[in-house]
Parts: sequence; structure tokens; C-alpha cells
Amino acid sequence: MSAPVAFKKAAPKKAAVLGWPIGHSKSPALHGFWLREHAIDGTYTALAVPPEDLANTLKSLHKNGFSGVNLTVPHKEAALKIVDQISPVAKAVGAINTIFVRDGGTLYGTNTDAYGFIENLRRDHPGFDAARGTAVVLGAGGAARAVCAALKDAGCREIRIANRTLSRSETLAKDFGPVVKPVAWSDLPRALSDAALLVNATSLGMTGQPPLPVDLSPLPTGALVTDLVYAPLETELLKAARARGNPAVDGLGMLLYQAQAGFEGWFGVKPEVTPALRAHVLAST
Ligand code: NAP
Repeated sequence: MSAPVAFKKAAPKKAAVLGWPIGHSKSPALHGFWLREHAIDGTYTALAVPPEDLANTLKSLHKNGFSGVNLTVPHKEAALKIVDQISPVAKAVGAINTIFVRDGGTLYGTNTDAYGFIENLRRDHPGFDAARGTAVVLGAGGAARAVCAALKDAGCREIRIANRTLSRSETLAKDFGPVVKPVAWSDLPRALSDAALLVNATSLGMTGQPPLPVDLSPLPTGALVTDLVYAPLETELLKAARARGNPAVDGLGMLLYQAQAGFEGWFGVKPEVTPALRAHVLAST
């Protein structure tokens, strides 16, 4: 009688989020929920990687058995120059937040923040159509770049950018073309007066940061208001918007939707964003 064939058990799939510092990240709770939900033999961990170690860490992902990683502050822009290939959206945004390790160890970088942003608005407000009106975006950092890429792709005709440092808004206008119009912070009342969408893409209003100094009174009450800040979940901006009758969308959904593509690429299942996931991520510290 021949000996039974021994099947080697596949190694668990591995992914992680890299940041510096990293303690605050909600991504392990988010991906951990999906791993359990789909009974996947895999892990998703948080790795504290100082900027000077980023290149070596990324180049060692294949050797260390990783299917890929997410990147958070301060690595999203630096990683763009380290990976082997990038997606068109990563090129437009100028940053990557998701890496897939391909056969042979090639690193493919993409940016899913733009998708996460627009999907969050569409799911929360199914009638929302960015092509129908003007958007005002506060901030001109990495998150604002993802918002501009998403809105431009969705057909938005004019994106007015107000930022503390005007030169950064001007850089966005140069990179995204005439659809982006820099406006001085002092011109916000005029910029808001006919807007259909207001986005806070600054870090103002986040726990531990100064408040966001914006007066909503010139904004039409039909305009949709969204805040990328999700700690606290209900920011002062969202409270003020809802109090005057504007529809408003919090920023947690952007985090949840941006995570779907990475999970699917690393673990082979497209996960759903559900109320149970939201509650789990909110409860995580
Ligand atoms: P960033 O690149 O550091 O940009 C920060 C932005 O905030 C810049 O426009 C900056 O203006 C402005 N800002 C910071 N402090 C300010 C102050 N005291 N007064 C006026 N403006 C100030 O950060 P980011 O990556 O774009 O992130 C921005 C926010 O979006 C963060 O709160 C982040 O957590 C959030 N975010 C959320 C998601 C999500 O999934 N919901 C995804 C990405 C980011 P200057 O240019 O003048 O410095």
C-alpha cells in the first residue's frame, strides 16, 4: 500500500499597516473584524516603522511573507518613490496608502482614499452627484489631494480650495488643472454661497487640534457637508451643519470603504461595510 500524500498547509496570509507612530490606527480592528467574519487564516497587524526604515521594510515584505500593507502618516508620499509600480490614481494623488506584493516580490502601490471618500458620500446619500455642483474643500494636504482626485474623476466642475497656506492650494491647482481654484480663507463666505458640497480635509476639529474656524451661514442649506476627521465622529462642523438643516456625512465611512480593495487583494474576499463593522471600529481604541 502506498503512503498517504502529505498536504502542506498554506501559511497564513499577512498584511499590516505601517506608520510612525502607529498606536492610534483603527485599521487592525477593521481588518481583524473582516478576517474573523470570513474565517480567513490571516493576520493584520500594526507596525511602527520610522521614516528611515521605510525603504528596507517595504523591500523586505516579500521575504517576510506579507501579501501587502497599508501606509499611514508619514509614509504615504515617501512610499510612492520606493515601490516598483503605481496606479493612475496614486499618480494623480501623489501618494499611496495600499501596497500589493505581487509574484516575485514586485511592489504595486495604489491610493484607495479617493475611492473611500466618494463611495462614503454615495452610500450615505444615494442621490449625491458630484457633477451637479461646485465643491469647497478646506485643506490642501494629502487628504485634500485624494478628495480632489475623487471629485474630478466624478465630474465635479469646480473645486474651490481654501487652505491656511495659499501656496499649497496653488500647487493643487497646478497638479489637477483648471477644475481646482485656490481661494483665500478670507474669501470663504463668497466661495460657500453657491456650493453644493463642503469638505473639511484639514486636521482642524480633530481631538487635540484647534477648532475649525468656519461660518456656515452663507452655505445653501441643501449643500452636503462632510468631515474627513472622525475623532470625534460628530465634529463641531457636522453638528453645526445638521443644526441648520444641511445633510452631513461623517468621515468614518471613508476609512471603512478605502480598506475594501486592500483586504480583497491580500485575502481574496471582497468584504462589506456594515453597521456591525462600523460599531466594532468605533468601539476599538
Ligand atoms: P496633512 O497632509 O498634514 O494636511 C493637514 C491640513 O490641515 C493642511 O491643509 C494644513 O494646512 C491644515 N492644518 C493643519 N493645522 C492647521 C491649523 N492650525 N490651522 C489651519 N490649517 C491647519 O494631513 P492629511 O493627511 O491631509 O489629513 C488631514 C485630515 O484628514 C486628518 O485629520 C486626517 O486624520 C484626515 N483623514 C481622514 C481619512 C479618512 O479615512 N476619514 C483619510 C485621510 C485623512 P497647511 O497646508 O497650511 O499646513
